[in-house]
Amino acid sequence: VSKEFNPIRAVFHGAEDKAVWTKDVLNLGVSPSKLVVYARQRFEAAGGRVMEGCGVQGVEVAPNGAKLSLDGSDVSELSARLVLDCMGHGSPITRQLRWGNKPDGMCLVVGSCSRGPWPDNKSADIIATNTPLQPPDAPVTNLQYFWEAFPAGSGPLDRTTYMFTYLDAEPHRPSLEQLFDDYWQHMPEYQGVQLDDLEVQRLLFGFFPTFRNSPLQPGWDRILQVGDASGIQSPLSFGGFGALTRHMSRLTTAVTEAVGCDALQKADLALINAYNPGLRCAATSTSQSWCIINSTSQ
Ligand SMILES: Cc1cc2nc3c(=O)[nH]c(=O)nc-3n(C[C@H](O)[C@H](O)[C@H](O)COP(=O)(O)OP(=O)(O)OC[C@H]3O[C@@H](n4cnc5c(N)ncnc54)[C@H](O)[C@@H]3O)c2cc1C
Repeated sequence: VSKEFNPIRAVFHGAEDKAVWTKDVLNLGVSPSKLVVYARQRFEAAGGRVMEGCGVQGVEVAPNGAKLSLDGSDVSELSARLVLDCMGHGSPITRQLRWGNKPDGMCLVVGSCSRGPWPDNKSADIIATNTPLQPPDAPVTNLQYFWEAFPAGSGPLDRTTYMFTYLDAEPHRPSLEQLFDDYWQHMPEYQGVQLDDLEVQRLLFGFFPTFRNSPLQPGWDRILQVGDASGIQSPLSFGGFGALTRHMSRLTTAVTEAVGCDALQKADLALINAYNPGLRCAATSTSQSWCIINSTSQ
């Protein structure tokens, strides 16, 4: 843990006096490089092997196992009883499974970690809006911008701020570049800083497609999607990392049992990535994502 901060605020435009302040919720900054080193050490201590720079070119499934074709490594083939596809949204396997299906929604995010005279760099915003919907005459129209802001672990004057929005996947929707323009334009009002006083340390940007049909049901025996490849995400912790970590212990137990009793057929694996339409608007993380997208992008 490189940073600990409190309190944490949730606040919405027009109801600033009703801001909700919490403690100890999403209040830690973790050094990703250290986390990756520790995770790798544990994996290797348990007998795992990391093949840096190695790409999976294809997977062939046979009744008794799966064969992975690799490039960028001295090993060109691997065999496995179970393939965990954790290749993210762009996983070639996921793209094949979702072929022809347009995403039901998109989350676009831009942000930075900047050093500067932040008026308050002790507390954080878990979610904030400081504008209504973007007006019809704005360069980017009808979108609701949400913000997050956190003190960063790299220094006492460093602060990470994100601006994100939910929208559909129509081709005329704004680019990340256009969103960045709005991010810088709204930043002084949101955080009470002048842009000229900020020293940008890092820029962050990305987009996540969301599909109602998530978690993705396995398409073949012996291959299971995990993480972004499976489509799990939650607007409550923003994106797929929090959702993945919340499912981690359940997945670990379920996958261990499936391998242990050789329950690796498509139907067996489907029980691990179970989808319950009855919960769509109530409890599942992906359905909440859709509800928020549905209610904010129209
Ligand atoms: C700016 C930004 C901010 C975010 N903030 C949050 C947040 O606050 N909270 C949250 O929960 N989530 C957040 N997310 C989302 C989060 O980063 C993802 O949900 C998470 O990283 C998913 O992890 P993953 O391991 O499933 O996939 P990824 O992190 O996408 O990892 C997939 C890996 O597979 C590799 N790969 C792909 N294809 C191949 C191939 N053919 N062969 C070999 N390897 C391959 C890729 O190189 C990559 O290393 C954010 C994302 C962005 C971009």
